[in-house]
Order: sequence, then structure tokens, then C-alpha cells
Amino acid sequence: MLFRGSLLSSTEGYYSVVLLRIVFFFFLGASLASFLKLVKDRFVRKHKLGTSFWRSLCCGRSRCDECGHPLGAIDLIPVISFLLTGGRCRYCGAKLSRKYLYSELALGIIFVLASFFALSFLGWSLVFAFSAALIFSIF
Ligand SMILES: [Zn+2]
Repeated sequence: MLFRGSLLSSTEGYYSVVLLRIVFFFFLGASLASFLKLVKDRFVRKHKLGTSFWRSLCCGRSRCDECGHPLGAIDLIPVISFLLTGGRCRYCGAKLSRKYLYSELALGIIFVLASFFALSFLGWSLVFAFSAALIFSIF
């Protein structure tokens, strides 16, 4: 009866599990948006600079588009970093594109909504495909 204990049977426990689930799936979606945006940006940049796309994807650290300063861990938290810095680079103060924020919010919300449906592997694959299409076409 360990797993049928007080945590899940109480209302408070239920709401904290739901809240945890929302936070988890929001940041999963927001992180995916952040990654897909990076893939898109580096793919575009590859065509500009002629560097290897795959190499920049695995080995290059994220940098500020304006000053080129490598970004720290605190700069890479989806949504939170943007809000904490007021949408500006911590090093040079350059304004960041709001597309980063919007794409992370959009995919975060899509993932939270999708988590409330009992999606199969195919269902989640479609959510991933739709997310990628959204990032590559709109943001
Ligand atoms: Zn900068």
C-alpha cells in the first residue's frame, strides 16, 4: 500500500502532481523550442559563414548574436532567462529577438496541452513534428 499512500489520495497531493506535470512539460517544450531555434539559426549561419553545420551544432557554445560573448548557464534557461534579463544581452545590453520568447512560450504551452491527452508514441511524434514545423516556418 506504499504507492496508494496519502500523497496521491489527498487533493493537495493531486494538485502538486498536476503542477509538477505542467512545469515539467512546459520546460520540456520550451527547451525543445530553444534547441530547434538554435538548429535553425546555425543552419542559416552555416550558409553565411561556410562552417560545418553539424560541427557547430555539437561543439559550438551559444553566443550573443551582437557581441559574440559565450552565454553562461544562467542565460540559457528557456523563458526565465529572457524575463530575468528583460530581453537583453547581459554582456552588451543588445536587445534579443522576441521570437525566442514567443517560440519557447508556444511550444511550452503545446507540450502542456499535449501532456493532458494520453498520447501514444505516434501522437508525441506528431507533436514533435508539428513543433519543428512551427519553429522552422514561423519563428
Ligand atoms: Zn551581447
